[in-house]
Amino acid sequence: MSGREILIAGGGIGGLAAALALAQKGRKVRVLEKAAEFGEIGYGIQMGPNVARMLDRLGVLKSLEPASVFPEALIFADALSNEEISRIALGKAFLARYGFRYFVIHRRDLHGGLLAACRQRGEIVLESSRGLKSFSQKNQTVTAVCENGAVYEGSALIGADGLWSPTRQAVIGDGAPRMAGHYVYRGVVPIEEVADKSRMNTMTIWGGPDLHMVQYRLQGGAVMNNVATICSRRIRRGEPDPGAPDELEELFARTHPGVRDNLRYVSRERNWVLHDRDPATNWTEGRVTLLGDAAHPTLQYLAQGAQMAIEDAVVLAEKVAAAGEDYPRAFLAYQRERMNRSARVVLSSRFFGEYIHVDGGARALRNELARARDPDNPWEVDWLYKGIEVNGTL
Ligand SMILES: Cc1cc2nc3c(=O)[nH]c(=O)nc-3n(C[C@H](O)[C@H](O)[C@H](O)COP(=O)(O)OP(=O)(O)OC[C@H]3O[C@@H](n4cnc5c(N)ncnc54)[C@H](O)[C@@H]3O)c2cc1C
Repeated sequence: MSGREILIAGGGIGGLAAALALAQKGRKVRVLEKAAEFGEIGYGIQMGPNVARMLDRLGVLKSLEPASVFPEALIFADALSNEEISRIALGKAFLARYGFRYFVIHRRDLHGGLLAACRQRGEIVLESSRGLKSFSQKNQTVTAVCENGAVYEGSALIGADGLWSPTRQAVIGDGAPRMAGHYVYRGVVPIEEVADKSRMNTMTIWGGPDLHMVQYRLQGGAVMNNVATICSRRIRRGEPDPGAPDELEELFARTHPGVRDNLRYVSRERNWVLHDRDPATNWTEGRVTLLGDAAHPTLQYLAQGAQMAIEDAVVLAEKVAAAGEDYPRAFLAYQRERMNRSARVVLSSRFFGEYIHVDGGARALRNELARARDPDNPWEVDWLYKGIEVNGTL
């Protein structure tokens, strides 16, 4: 173990991955989490081969396997006709091309796996009920002040404090994230409750006009994860109650009955309002940097937000290890390496958000182009799934 502590604000997937990656490089880390307990919400998350490679490096991939589901294909279907339009095969050719499999997992299992690995490391201290309020930098020291008055000194601070990151506001000061006008409803139900069992071994996304539905199994196949998203027309028209449950029903009314029927698996009790930000170039200030959603929040249309956070963590730790105690240099090198890849995810996700939600002639064109795709050549995401080089090796 070397040096003073590195402070991390936020114990989500990104913060825990960063703690683990830094501990593997022999650094002492203290994670300050705002919530009373470390945890995640109870829904699924998709993990591509690019992040499987990172989780393997962090030594947690194997431990996640029992809780993971490995679909045989990613299917894109038309929500109005319920017709399969294209697929990416996730079998042998995929594994040979990318070196790792694609999997889906319950967020609590992923976060729990990272948390268990952190708890096994003597270098890591995990503290809950420690919301970061402010920080200052002087000489070689960062001083963090928490909402409960606790004060910590460290050699550096990583803001992994999510979409509404206070660390970001101190570093960049660019205000609230951009509201996309998209609303998400989710639900996880026992597999016995799912009426249509024809898509048990796939990750299926049905795209339709201003809406889409995603479905895949979790927890060894015991439950079905369901996600319904709408691009609110009310918000575009300046009307009240944008994204409310009745707008969900309204927009899905045009979909095929076999698609619409899946709405009964999503809860109306709460929805998530989607945000992102334009890519930034200044997430580092001296001994303070940002990671994950704090640095580059993205829409979920490539399913890569958490994956980018985990890639960030691995790259950050490599740069810290290479720079010794020179954290400003390490953090700038990290930002340089992560900037364009994360920006490409943010901007491509916006594009895919348009692509899947079209209607009319654009829908006809999209379907024709998508039908022509080769299931063994996922060219749109090839740059992503190939993953990143760390220290010159894949
Ligand atoms: C509908 C939807 C589907 C998605 N699907 C996928 C997917 O399939 N694959 C994928 O990779 N990504 C997906 N994402 C994105 C993914 O959820 C996020 O990118 C990811 O969770 C970001 O992780 P993070 O650790 O950076 O931030 P967060 O998960 O937001 O964690 C931030 C942590 O910081 C804590 N915190 C906040 N403020 C403070 C403070 N002041 N002090 C200390 N702690 C603080 C919070 O309590 C939290 O624990 C999806 C997102 C949505 C909305």
